[in-house]
Parts: sequence; structure tokens; C-alpha cells
Amino acid sequence: MVRAIYPGSFDPLTLGHLDIAVRASKLFDEVIVAVYDAPPKRLLFETEERMALWREALPPGVTNVSVVPYKGLTVDLAHQFDASVLVRGLRALSDFEYELEMNLTNRRMAPDIESVFLMSSHEYLYLSSTRIKEVWGLGHKLADMVPANVNRALTERLQQTDRG
Ligand code: ADP
Repeated sequence: MVRAIYPGSFDPLTLGHLDIAVRASKLFDEVIVAVYDAPPKRLLFETEERMALWREALPPGVTNVSVVPYKGLTVDLAHQFDASVLVRGLRALSDFEYELEMNLTNRRMAPDIESVFLMSSHEYLYLSSTRIKEVWGLGHKLADMVPANVNRALTERLQQTDRG
């Protein structure tokens, strides 16, 4: 039984993230999406909201993916759940150096945990949560880049911001 962790901030979840999780669900017996509670970024959605958006967006047929919150080191979380794999998505060249450094650090701390990198699908290669938030904040909806429930949540959040 191979259990994998797919960690990230997911603020918000995009179709690129969902694509990686669904593809990972075919490779591993269980995939645990780990929503990082305290990333060093300004968050648009609270941890509970980011988790709820993931749970709603997962296709009904995908039954081996669960969602948990976490703080601290990803390798500690993997040990806690008895997971032997970390899944990460790789987009264009820009992700490579960061991921290599993170991977070498993780392996030094936990040599028993292997990272597996899935290449982004072509249509999501240049898609990031940061860009989605930026463009949305400026009034343009990239509705075809996020799941429908995230689209609704972003629209609501924007209306609240306008009112506030
Ligand atoms: P971080 O871990 O830096 O907070 P994110 O939450 O944005 O990153 O993403 C989590 C994981 O999903 C990372 O491995 C990231 O490279 C990957 N990812 C993000 N967007 C895409 C995409 N469009 N296609 C493939 N993988 C992606």
C-alpha cells in the first residue's frame, strides 16, 4: 500500500492542482492533499475554506483522495500518516530550482520519503494561484482556470472586498 501526500497552500485551488491530484490518485493507493495552514504568504482563503473547496471540487469517482490541514514540516506529516511519497507538480523551468532545493532538504531530513514530480498538463503550464488572485483582484475572471466552486468563492470574496 503506497500512500502519498500532496502538499501546498492551494490559495486558491486551481485546475492545475486538481489535475495533479487526480493523476496522482491513479498512481498511488491513497493520496492525502495537505493544505498548509500557515504559508509565508498573504492568504485569500482560510484553511477551512481551502479544504472545503478541495473536497467539493474532487470528482465523485475519485475516492482515494482525502484532504487534511497541516502545520510544520511536510516530512513530519508524511511520517505521521505513514506516507512514503510526496507528490509535487512541476510547471515551467521556474519551479525546478525551488523544488530541487526543497527535495534535497527533505531527503536529508527524511531519507525514507521519496518525492515524485508530475509534469503540469499543457493547458495549466502557466497557471498559478498567485496569478489567479492578481488578475481576479484587477477585475478579470479566469473562470476556465479554476473549478466552478472556486470561481463562485472568488466572485463572492471580491464582492465582499468591494463592499468592505
Ligand atoms: P506552494 O507549495 O508553493 O504553496 P501551491 O499551493 O501553489 O504551492 O502548489 C502546490 C503544488 O502544486 C506545487 O507542487 C506546485 O508546483 C503545484 N502546482 C501549482 N500549480 C500547478 C499547475 N498549474 N500545474 C501543475 N502543478 C501545479
